[in-house]
Amino acid sequence: MKILAIESSCDEFSISIIEEDKILCNIISSQIKDHQVYGGVVPELAARLHLQNMHIVLQSALKETETTIESIDYVAYTEKPGLIGSLIVGKTVAEAIALYIDKPLLPLHHIEGHIFGASINHKFVYPVLALVVSGGHTQIELVHSPNEFEIIGTTQDDAIGECYDKVARVLGMGYPGGPLIDKLAQTGNSSKYLLPIAKNDNSFDFSYSGLKTAAINLIHNAEQKHEKLELKDFCATFQFAATSILKIKLEKAVQKFKPLTLTVAGGVSANSSIRKLIMEIGNTYNLNTIIPDLEYCTDNAAMIAKLAREKLINQNH
Ligand code: ATP
Ligand code: MG
Ligand code: FE
Repeated sequence: MKILAIESSCDEFSISIIEEDKILCNIISSQIKDHQVYGGVVPELAARLHLQNMHIVLQSALKETETTIESIDYVAYTEKPGLIGSLIVGKTVAEAIALYIDKPLLPLHHIEGHIFGASINHKFVYPVLALVVSGGHTQIELVHSPNEFEIIGTTQDDAIGECYDKVARVLGMGYPGGPLIDKLAQTGNSSKYLLPIAKNDNSFDFSYSGLKTAAINLIHNAEQKHEKLELKDFCATFQFAATSILKIKLEKAVQKFKPLTLTVAGGVSANSSIRKLIMEIGNTYNLNTIIPDLEYCTDNAAMIAKLAREKLINQNH
């Protein structure tokens, strides 16, 4: 079974071809440099660049893998959620290919894709408890099968990735700020400043807008008082506040839902503190613990291809 998958929901245009469990290619055309000057993704620009890049990515995917378009059995693509202009480009390419080769088209969910990105090179044993941390999402999901996802908790306002990026932007660190804050945080003192651990309650929901505001206020107050902000200590304090709530809620979810596998997905799962806390919980509760390979954390089409394959294999279960 050969699957061609397209991911284009934000500022990456990516095509992956897989044959059974083997990833033949995972080509990603990233626009990070084009959006950096604006301090964030500009939706209109993202869609226009997808239009420019799509045929180059498709051609190299086919060439690199020596695949003829006629040998593809299924065409999968990210249907939602994402930037509408970006999604339309991916959908149009996928539909055109499927129509031309007369093979089934599989519209898939981006977040389900992120979760299955973690299962590339690792084995899911169900039920899987997945922490989803990305630019637009902060969720805990219970995955019963590739065709059954249950959202246990979700952010009530901002996503964790957005919170990282906005705070980094106010610090003038550049875009995307998540990895930059994470790097500095690793050498800093997390008890130097005080930031709130938000929504520490009995629900499985999250809130990141309060932490974002508190962090930005702290930066502005220091500026007004002409006090020097110790950047690495500030980043360590921020990272502790942002991630320790994930550990608290995830541990409660493990106790309640008794999963067999614990994993983390989405771009922010590249974060060092989050990878560490997943390992700690997994070890404490003796779970099949999966830390995704870094290349499958941020947006890529291999995760969509893998989701497609697992859905097809499991559709009768
Ligand atoms: P969504 O998947 O919700 O639609 P998205 O696709 O824009 O959003 P991803 O590409 O999955 O998001 O992830 C991008 C986010 O990951 C950015 O906010 C970026 O700052 C963050 N990120 C990447 N590496 C790290 C890290 N080491 N620490 C914290 N954040 C990180
Ligand atoms: Mg991106
Ligand atoms: Fe994403």
